[in-house]
This record gives sequence, structure tokens and C-alpha cells, in this order.
Amino acid sequence: MPVIPPAAPADVPPADAAMPQDFDALLHQDPEVAGILLAESRRQSSTLQLIAAENSTSPAVLAALGSPLANKYAEGYPGARHHGGCEQADAAERVAVRRATTLFGAEHANVQPHSGSSAVLAAYAALLRPGDTVLAMGLAYGGHLTHGAPGNFSGRWFEFAGYGVDPDSGLIDYAQVRALARARRPKAIVCGSISYPRHPDYETFREIADEVGAYLIADTAHPMGLIAGGAAPSPVPYADVVCATTHKVLRGPRGGMILCGSELAERIDRAVFPFTQGGAQMHTVAAKAVAFGEAAAPAFAVYAHQVVAHARVLAAGLEAEGFEVATDGTDTHLVVVDPAPLGVDGRTARDRLMAAGMVLDTCALPYGDARGLRLGTAALTTQGMDEADVARVAVLFGAAVRERGDAGRLRSEVRELAERNPPYPG
Ligand SMILES: *Cc1c(COP(=O)(O)O)cnc(C)c1O
Repeated sequence: MPVIPPAAPADVPPADAAMPQDFDALLHQDPEVAGILLAESRRQSSTLQLIAAENSTSPAVLAALGSPLANKYAEGYPGARHHGGCEQADAAERVAVRRATTLFGAEHANVQPHSGSSAVLAAYAALLRPGDTVLAMGLAYGGHLTHGAPGNFSGRWFEFAGYGVDPDSGLIDYAQVRALARARRPKAIVCGSISYPRHPDYETFREIADEVGAYLIADTAHPMGLIAGGAAPSPVPYADVVCATTHKVLRGPRGGMILCGSELAERIDRAVFPFTQGGAQMHTVAAKAVAFGEAAAPAFAVYAHQVVAHARVLAAGLEAEGFEVATDGTDTHLVVVDPAPLGVDGRTARDRLMAAGMVLDTCALPYGDARGLRLGTAALTTQGMDEADVARVAVLFGAAVRERGDAGRLRSEVRELAERNPPYPG
């Protein structure tokens, strides 16, 4: 696992500053909760995590999350807090911001959003007024909850227009995006999706946004880790605001972040705090700094490229198993398949896969009402799987969906493959 070079010895506190967290103490004090945590750890190491939004953070990230910085209130920003005693909170946030701006080549970073959704909420709050029109990928094509779902703040407070994909190729129909932009004159255009396996064309989105005088918001919650590792194009040169999560391919703690140019920095910061949030979770901010440090190491670029190579192996393997692969493949960590050619619907397929120890989601498909299956290779790759392992996953996947062979034997092969590649060796 890549790490940041250690601080100079003079900067390391003395040993009496030892960390108090102790799992044995939890086990002793509260076996009920400790038992749940142990069972979850066992679940993660004995099944295959194919949920495209999940990954396994490093022990260093988990250490930062479990540190006493979790106790600290730090409303505001470094140097301008509403609470005393923020010296180390300020230091942690400054490191996180410096690493984020360097890693992504952005002028400004806000590392406080509690989640990807809060990052998007803050971006809308900074740029829009309630009732404004926003153009984003339609929910039926892979738009996120925050891109206009009726039950979400976005659908309640803004007028969303949704673009889609070409039903044959599955690719974004840029002519339709342009036509909708001209017809609806949105105040902002959002590019980003929960299931689009190809790279958005940020340059074309920028052109369309400029044509109608709209802000361009890139919601790169999914590919942010690929962008960090140079395995996907960066929206930073094109988008006014980039929103992301830190816990998907980027492999940091559960949380959000926002990048923007210096001209929007103050509006974005005020939209995060005090408009949409109170005190930031400073242990999470420190863990984000650790994750950005890991993502800046050369080993992370190797990881990001492997994630994509593995997704391509998985897509090819699933096609050979008879699944219909959306967009005929992938450029990212995401693979979306329709199990219909196997005579099985998405939900039944997911349940059969779960029974075999393969954990994943269903997702919308760009045609009809049937559900597809959405998979990702970020977690498998973190666990150290190679292309042969991933090719084997595709075969086991096909066997589970078809109910081919002995169910008990299938479950044990999945377990063995997972246990051979544990997320936390030792
Ligand atoms: C995951 C995701 C989000 C939201 O992340 P949460 O941390 O779950 O709130 C927002 N947008 C897109 C496109 C996502 O994939």
C-alpha cells in the first residue's frame, strides 16, 4: 500500500502521545457491538465486493478515522474557526487541501462535505437559486439521486431536465444534450453518473454550457480515483465545479470534496459551511489527507490502470458468459450488464449472486424497464487480484446466475478466491 513519506523525526510527537483506540477493549466492554464489527469484517473478507461504489481503505486511513481528532469541533475554516483548540484540526485540513489541489491540479479544494451528496448540494447552493433549471443525466440512464430525483432536495428545489444515451450504443447523445440545453436554457449542466462506464466528453459539455451560458458541474464521485491515478481524463480544466466522493475508486474515507477555480472559492466554501453543514468531521478530513497522500504515490497510478484493465477483463468474460454488456465494454472501473439473454431478470440474478457470495447492485438500463447489474473492480483490485482471478470471477458469476453446477461448491470457490486475496492481510 503506497504511503506518504514519513514526517521528519523532529515532527513526530513523543511516545506518550500514543493512540487510545483498542479493539480488545471494545470486545470486553461491548461484545454485542464488537461482535457485529467482527462479523462485518468477516463478511467483507469472505465474499467478493463487486459494488461499484465500494472499496477497502488502507489501515492508515482507518487509523486516522479512529483517532481522537474525531472528538474535535471545528466549525469554519483553518485560521477562522468558531471553536478553540483547533491547531491540529487546522493543520490536518491544510494538509488535505494542499494535497487535493496538487493531486487534481485545482486552484481550490473544499474537503469538508460529509458525503458526495452534500458536495452536490453545496455546489447547487453556491451557483443556483431554488426553481432554477438544471440539465443532468436522466435518472433512468444513470443519473444520481442528486440529479433531480423527486424524493431528493434536487428534485424538490430545482427544475431538472434529463438527457439520455443512444439506445443502441448506450453512449451519451451529445446532440440531444445540446438540443435540450438550447430549449431549456439551464443555469447549470451536470455531467457524471452512477453507472455510465465510459468517459464523459468534458470538452463538449463545456462547449454546450458556454453556448447557453450555463455553469458546468462535473459530478465525478465514481471516477475520482481513476482521475487521481491518470487512468481517466480530468474534468478540472473544463468544469466550473467538480464534486466527488473520497470513498469510491479513490479509496479514502466515506466523504465528499469539491474542487473549483479561485473565483468561485469563497462561494463554494460558504455553501458548504455555514449553508449546508455545521462542524466538519475532522477525523474524516485527516483520513482524506492520508488517502490523497496515498493517491499521489506512483503505486496508485498502477492501481488505477489495473482497475480499468480488470474491468475490461470482467466485461469480456461476462460477454463470453452470454450477458449483454452495456456500451460493449468499459473505459472505467464500471461494468453494466443485462442478464436477460440468460433468461433471468436483474433482481433474480442479484439474489443468486448474493447466495454465491458475490455482492453487487442492480441498476437502470438505458432501454425498457428491466434492471441490469452494475459491477466494479475497485475493491477486487485493492485486494490484490490479478487478471486471471478476475476472469475466474466472470465464470463464477455466469455459473451463479445460470444456477449451473453445485451451489455449495460454487459458494466455497467464491469464498476461497476472496480469502486468498484478503482486504486486510494478517
Ligand atoms: C456516489 C455518488 C454520489 C453521492 O455520494 P454519497 O456519498 O453516497 O452521498 C453523488 N453523485 C454520484 C454520481 C455518485 O455516484
